[in-house]
Amino acid sequence: MSQRRIRDWYEYWDGMVYASVSGGIDSTVMYDLIHGLYPDVPGIFVNTRMEFPEIVRFVRTLPNIREITPAMTPAQVFMEYGYPVISKDISRTAYYARHGSVWAIRRFDGQRPDGTPSEWYAQRHGRWKRILSADFAISDQCCHELKVRPLAEIEKERKPFIGMLASESERRTVAYLHTGCNAYKSRKPRSMPLGFWTGQDVLRYIKETGIPYAKDIYGEIVEDRKGHLATTMEQRTGCYACPLGQCMRRRKGTESRYERLKRLHPKQYEYAMKPLSEGGLGLMPVLDYLNIPY
Ligand code: SF4
Repeated sequence: MSQRRIRDWYEYWDGMVYASVSGGIDSTVMYDLIHGLYPDVPGIFVNTRMEFPEIVRFVRTLPNIREITPAMTPAQVFMEYGYPVISKDISRTAYYARHGSVWAIRRFDGQRPDGTPSEWYAQRHGRWKRILSADFAISDQCCHELKVRPLAEIEKERKPFIGMLASESERRTVAYLHTGCNAYKSRKPRSMPLGFWTGQDVLRYIKETGIPYAKDIYGEIVEDRKGHLATTMEQRTGCYACPLGQCMRRRKGTESRYERLKRLHPKQYEYAMKPLSEGGLGLMPVLDYLNIPY
């Protein structure tokens, strides 16, 4: 079914397509499937400058890859727009609430835009109201500047394949159910040929086909007695210093993203913690405020 979606997308756009390659295991599998059919499809890797070095090295070994870097550095984005914290939704709402938008202020007060009480907003936004008084800027612009904007020129000519799985989050499931794998008519057309896969399917594909993946960071793929697959090192990659999703409760004895970074990538850790004024990412006060251990 994924191959069919890939063919449909390629033919619909007369081959003027590209694959968004992050070096993570999902996009690695997607790129393999695409190249099995159409080796001419270029892979575009946006190097946000917050990529694990193992990921950058791996992506550079893939065929037909073009690497691009955003115009802004992560530090410039944090300084100019603010830090992405908790979730994109919370960051965006906090940005608007701080700029006086009534709908956003009401969400943090547990109300709908019309001012009536809402348990949903109370649960989702109300409990984070305290971030409005944090002494650092907050916004959801980061992904836009570092991942979306650099692709804008390319997308004038080519339409993307994205290695996203609908099962990864509630938001992605809703989007997938709305459009299916190939969103031809969306404001931003895109194909998600692995949309219906699970994380287990991805690991199974790699294990059974033996395709190269970023083993230096993910480790081996191992199977337990119940047939459940897992990687022995990182479970996920992406921007190593991103604060999004780091406020969740952790199981006792589990490291935070930053504790792990400190142990395994001390150079990147140092850069993330160094103040912005000294050329770092200035994360320390942000993590302190959010009680994220580092
Ligand atoms: S994943 Fe996080 S750090 Fe990376 S671009 Fe998006 S918001 Fe920024």
